[in-house]
Amino acid sequence: MRTCEPLLFKNRRAGQTVFLEGYRKTGGYRGLQKALQDMTPASVREEVKASGLRGRGGAGFPTGVKWSFFPSDNAGEKYLVCNGDEMEPGTFKDRQLLLADPHHLLEGVIISCYALGIGTAYIFLRDAYRQCAANLERAIAEAEEAGLLGDNILGSGFCCEVHVHRSAGRYICGEETALLNSLEGLRPNPRSKPPFPAVKGLFGKPTALNNIETLANIPHIITGGAAWYKGLALTEQGAGTKLYGLAGHLETPCCVELPLGMPLGELIRDFGGGVWQNRSFKACLPGGASTPYLTAEHMDVALDYEPLEQVGTRLGTGGVVVFDDRTCMVAVTLNLLRFFARESCGWCTPCRDGLPLVCWLLERLERGEGSREDLAMLREQLLHINGRSFCALALGAMGPVDGLLRHFAEELEDHVRLGRCPFQA
Ligand code: NAD
Repeated sequence: MRTCEPLLFKNRRAGQTVFLEGYRKTGGYRGLQKALQDMTPASVREEVKASGLRGRGGAGFPTGVKWSFFPSDNAGEKYLVCNGDEMEPGTFKDRQLLLADPHHLLEGVIISCYALGIGTAYIFLRDAYRQCAANLERAIAEAEEAGLLGDNILGSGFCCEVHVHRSAGRYICGEETALLNSLEGLRPNPRSKPPFPAVKGLFGKPTALNNIETLANIPHIITGGAAWYKGLALTEQGAGTKLYGLAGHLETPCCVELPLGMPLGELIRDFGGGVWQNRSFKACLPGGASTPYLTAEHMDVALDYEPLEQVGTRLGTGGVVVFDDRTCMVAVTLNLLRFFARESCGWCTPCRDGLPLVCWLLERLERGEGSREDLAMLREQLLHINGRSFCALALGAMGPVDGLLRHFAEELEDHVRLGRCPFQA
C-alpha cells in the first residue's frame, strides 16, 4: 500500500481537534517564523511559484502564477480571501482539515498575507460548517494571544488581521466573484472576468483568492522548500500531496492525504476498501460533481491535473465518488443536474433556462419516455451551454452530461429502445 508522511493531516485523529499547543508540538508556526525572520515577501512568493503548487479548490490554477498577477509590492488597500465555501457535491476535504487542525490554515493565511503585502484576510466558510467556524475563531484568538496574529507579529513589524465570514448558504456563493459580492453584502451574482479579483476584487481592491487546502500547503513549502515539496508527487509534472475524498459505493468511504498522482485503482482498492458488497466498479466522478466520469478502463490513470485532462476530465476537488455496476448513470446524472439547476443564480440564460431543459430531457429518458430526438437535443445542449454562460457553474454542470454522452451512450440508447430504465425491474 502506497502512503506518504501526511503534511496537512499530520495532526488528524478521530474525533479530536488540535489547537495551538498541539499544533506547535508538531512544528506548527515554524513556517511563519522562517518566512518573517529569514525571507523577504518576494522570496516567499518565488518559493511558492517554484513549488508547482496548483489551486486545490477545483480549477487547479498555479498558485504562484496567480499571485504574480497581484500587486504585492504596492502599498494600499488589498485583501486576501480564503474560499472555504466547500459545497461541491462529493467534496468534504476542507471540512476534514478544519475539524482536525484549524491552525494549519491560519498559518498558511498569515504567511500568504506577508508574501503579498496584505493586512486583512477573510475566511469565507460554508454556512453549514459551524464547527469549523468555531474552531477557526478559537484558533484566531489563540494566535492573537500568542503574538502570531495581529500587530507586530513575532516582533517583525508585520501586522495582519483575519476574520471568519459564514456564507449565505448557496452553491453560487463559492464562485469567486459571487463570493466577493456576498462578502460585500450584495446579492451573490457572479461578476464579469476580467478584471480578475487579483486586479479588482473585494470592495474594488486587489484580492488574492485561494482555497483552504491550497493555503494550508504554504507553511510546508516554506519549511521544506520548493524542490522537496515538488518531489512529493508521484507524477513528473505534479507537486505535493492531495487530500482525496472517497465516497459513494465503497466499503470504506474516507478522506486521505496521499501523494498527488495516485492511480485511481489503487486509491479505490487500498483506501476505499474496494467497491461495496462485492460488486464491480462502473464509473466515478474523479473530483466532485462537475467533473466528467471515469470508467473501469481508467483504473491506471494518475489522479493529477494533466493525466486527467488527457482522458477528458479534471482533478477538480479530488472528491472521488464511486458508482457500482447496478447504478443507472442516467439517474445519477439527473440527480446531479437537479442540484445544479436548483443552485443556478439565474443571472444568465444558458444556465437559468438550459439546465432545467437538460433536467427535463434526462427525466424523460429515465422514465422511459425519451426519444432519439431527445438524445440529439441533449447532445446539442453541450454546444448551447458550454462556453456561453457567465460563470463556471453551467460548464461544471455539463461535465457529468458530457461524461454520460461519451461513456454511456449505449445505456442512454437502451432507455429509449426499451422504453424504461434498464436498471429498474
Ligand atoms: P477559473 O479557471 O476561471 O479560474 C481559476 C482561478 O484562476 C481563479 O481564481 C481566477 O481568478 C484565476 N485566474 C485565471 N486566469 C487569470 C488571469 N488571467 N489573471 C488573474 N487570475 C486569473 O475557475 P473558477 O471559476 O475560479 O473555478 C471553477 C472550478 O471551481 C471548477 O473547476 C470546480 O471544480 C470548482 N468548484 C469547487 C467547489 C468546491 O466546493 N471546492 C465548488 C464549486 C466549484
